[in-house]
Amino acid sequence: MSGPGGGGGSELETVVPDRGIFEIDRYLSLDLVETGRGCYFNCRYCSTQLINGPKLRKRSPEKVGEEIDMIKRLYGITHFQIWDDTFTFEKDRLRELCVVLKKREVTFDCNTRPDFFTEEDAMLMKDSGCRNIFFGVESGNSEILNYLGRPMKKEKIVNSFRYAEKYGIRTTASFIIGSPIETEETLRETLDFAKLLKADHVLFNILTPHKGTRIYTLSVKKQLLKPYDVDIEKFPHEPIGVPMVDNINGLDRDDINRWKMEMYKNYYLRLGYMSQQLRRTRSLDDIIRIFKLWRIYKR
Ligand code: SF4
Repeated sequence: MSGPGGGGGSELETVVPDRGIFEIDRYLSLDLVETGRGCYFNCRYCSTQLINGPKLRKRSPEKVGEEIDMIKRLYGITHFQIWDDTFTFEKDRLRELCVVLKKREVTFDCNTRPDFFTEEDAMLMKDSGCRNIFFGVESGNSEILNYLGRPMKKEKIVNSFRYAEKYGIRTTASFIIGSPIETEETLRETLDFAKLLKADHVLFNILTPHKGTRIYTLSVKKQLLKPYDVDIEKFPHEPIGVPMVDNINGLDRDDINRWKMEMYKNYYLRLGYMSQQLRRTRSLDDIIRIFKLWRIYKR
């Protein structure tokens, strides 16, 4: 397939990657299938447009189906990770992709925004084999959502999690903490909101202003960040050598890191979370997973 940002829409649409050329032992998983590349939005912190270009390129459902058939045939894989920033945005396209997935009797996980997910989507996706949805929630504070360029109604977010729960689809709620207008109060608000959503998993990611994003320019301008070169040696504790912003409303990097750990512990080590997960348990694997999580955060 074409590389980042190049190639136009038609090439991506018509190509089926040759999965047979992979040396399977060298890869952790071969279950990832891309159904589209790029995004309609341009959230302030996101680098998708820098990587994929400004256009959304959609693959033809037919070609996606061919790729799934090839992976099933070559490796016997029946559970897939659908990679698509816009999976539930266009309902006609979602329906076509779900037909392809259902026909092949596979199961899948996917990601989407919680403001583009309806009860009809939940019903359709469950029927087509969806097991998990990764929702980019980002914050429990409306002002921060606006600041990040994601003006979403919190009520809409809650509804999306309820739809998934109603149809037995597991959820991950992903948050971004440590943005330039974060305060201890907004961190608490985000933690409370995470609990309200009752997601099966949460992620509290620290904002990392990637070069070229709007949040990078803004953070440098406000002297929350020095212009940097990506260098893993300089920032060994931070993802891919990218520094986080510093000195935001009295919170330094250590404070944000401490908050992150506390938020995980506070979320997972609750009786409410344990009983919610036991109620949703479908197998012995689920119980083992809950126990492992508890052990990780108990330390
Ligand atoms: S964060 Fe998600 S919705 Fe926003 S621009 Fe990036 S891919 Fe699109």
